[in-house]
Amino acid sequence: MADIIKLLPDHVANQIAAGEVVQRPASVVKELLENAIDAGANNIMLIVRDGGKALIQVVDDGLGMSVTDARLSFERHATSKIQKAEDLFNLNTKGFRGEALASIAAIAHVEMQTKPDGDELGTVLKIEGSKIVSQELTAAAKGTSMAVKNLFFNIPARRNFLKSNQVELRHITDEFHRVALAHPNIDFHFHNNGGEMFNLPKSNQRQRIVNIFGKKTNQKLVPVVEETQVVKISGFINKPEFAKKSRGEQFFFVNNRFIKSPYLHHAVVSAFEGVIKTDTYPGYFLYLEVDPASIDINIHPTKTEVKFDDEHTLYAILRSTVKHSLGQFNVVPALDFEQDQNLETPYAYKNKEAELPRVTVDAGFNPFQESTISKGKSGYRKESNSGSQSWEGLYTGLESEIGKEVAFSSMQFESDTITGSVFDEQKESLDSTTTTFQLRRKYIVTTIKSGMIVIDQSRAHQRVLYEKFLKNITIKEAVSQQLLFPLSLSFSSADRVILEEIKESLNTIGFIFGKMDTETVEVKGVPVLVSESEVGMVLDQLISDCQMEVSGDSFSQTDILAKTLAKTLSVKTGEILESASQIGLVNDLFACKESLVSPFNKPVYVTISENDIDRKFI
Ligand code: ADP
Ligand code: MG
Repeated sequence: MADIIKLLPDHVANQIAAGEVVQRPASVVKELLENAIDAGANNIMLIVRDGGKALIQVVDDGLGMSVTDARLSFERHATSKIQKAEDLFNLNTKGFRGEALASIAAIAHVEMQTKPDGDELGTVLKIEGSKIVSQELTAAAKGTSMAVKNLFFNIPARRNFLKSNQVELRHITDEFHRVALAHPNIDFHFHNNGGEMFNLPKSNQRQRIVNIFGKKTNQKLVPVVEETQVVKISGFINKPEFAKKSRGEQFFFVNNRFIKSPYLHHAVVSAFEGVIKTDTYPGYFLYLEVDPASIDINIHPTKTEVKFDDEHTLYAILRSTVKHSLGQFNVVPALDFEQDQNLETPYAYKNKEAELPRVTVDAGFNPFQESTISKGKSGYRKESNSGSQSWEGLYTGLESEIGKEVAFSSMQFESDTITGSVFDEQKESLDSTTTTFQLRRKYIVTTIKSGMIVIDQSRAHQRVLYEKFLKNITIKEAVSQQLLFPLSLSFSSADRVILEEIKESLNTIGFIFGKMDTETVEVKGVPVLVSESEVGMVLDQLISDCQMEVSGDSFSQTDILAKTLAKTLSVKTGEILESASQIGLVNDLFACKESLVSPFNKPVYVTISENDIDRKFI
């Protein structure tokens, strides 16, 4: 048989290797910023056009390169940072593989200008797809400018695979955040399509965080400090009340390098246990310093994973340090979210002095009068001023207590019978299947011909709202309420980028925006179901949910928006619903296209047939 194995030409090998280093424009940004830091720069400027697809340029005032080094820097495995394998265990630089520039040059048009301090002239080098196009001497300032244009120009399949400019910009911004947070002692500028996105003067850790994430971040931060033989920890955690439903502002830096570590993340989250709601995540910016010999950063090509020698000790120290900070700064809220109010039994009150609920009967009370059926903003929520009209109003003594979120599950239960009797009298005005009562402030129970169904109130409402928003978005007929006084909200620049991205979809559901500048975003109109006080919270939630989702196509964006709004605005477990609201919700649920599962694919109700019940009595 003839020989069939051939050595790949260099440029093909380089292109293949480039795939490992350069997944998207953000990877180039990371490599170039890290090179500038390794070169000892004090000032670094990042310039991006069209999500990095047209241009990524990093200008630094670091060491610069000699003519020979400039040429060599684009060779594979050419690095000034290590010489022998042992050096890997004492790394103080970001780079060490000597692959980044070779990879980038293989798949883009690169123009480098560089001059070391003291040299009279610098070098300009142009490379296209690994081929040197020109090399000249030039007058230049000390330092290096690296411009990467037309990424993946010679690999159309990869170029087509890139997402929209805005999505790519978001990845770039994330990368920029990580590098800038790791190096507050360096001055960073970031320009996008000619406009300034960030101007971060040299500062301390706290100021850097605030400069990146916005002024309102300052009040959220609680300092963390610890020094042991194994590790030195500094940085900040966010106060528990600012915990978010999605992961977002969570940063670990080890020896000034951003890393991902699910294990250490767990240590921090477990320190927050009991002080934040389940399924929310604490924000943190934690800087760990360890002996470089005790870590291995060689296990991942893009180097965001690190292997620690003694992970267990680190875990324990981190957890207790974070706990200590929470305690020391007295930010552990008095309220215990973990406590499930629905599980509270009446016995919890055994040490309380017994107090009979005062029952006053409103003789003219008619639960089906228009006024009592007035829905809350989100549909079914009890309006605070509808008190005496509602059936819970029968217990006037309870009304204020309920406001204080004290569990009165036993009381509610008793009241069910009352609900029943009220319904009996009014039966003719009702469909025979719509007698309802609320169980444990969580379920709505109602009868059907064959037995009964138990509906999860929160999931049911999510389903109803979800379909409503989806419809609004697709037929573009959302009803918006104009605000008398436009709201002025502040967002970090990263959040503003996402807001710009989803603005159009937000318009279709009823948000109307006015001016958007670096400081504030003006909101002129909101969807009818959103109250003015909820706007900031709803937008924050929408932004963080969209941030998690990078696919960027408009269908999934619509879906995320509808889901987020449904989740945020829905009636929650623990909320009391008036009988009219219960019926309204049940009817709306069964008018849905899909009533069995919530938008998050959880069951909405269960059916218990008469047979099931009969069997229990055998
Ligand atoms: P690595 O960073 O892993 O060494 P790179 O391919 O990123 O590999 O860079 C190759 C070499 O080029 C570096 O080791 C460094 O000597 C030089 N270099 C790259 N960028 C710069 C820069 N901005 N300033 C000075 N030298 C640089
Ligand atoms: Mg490098």
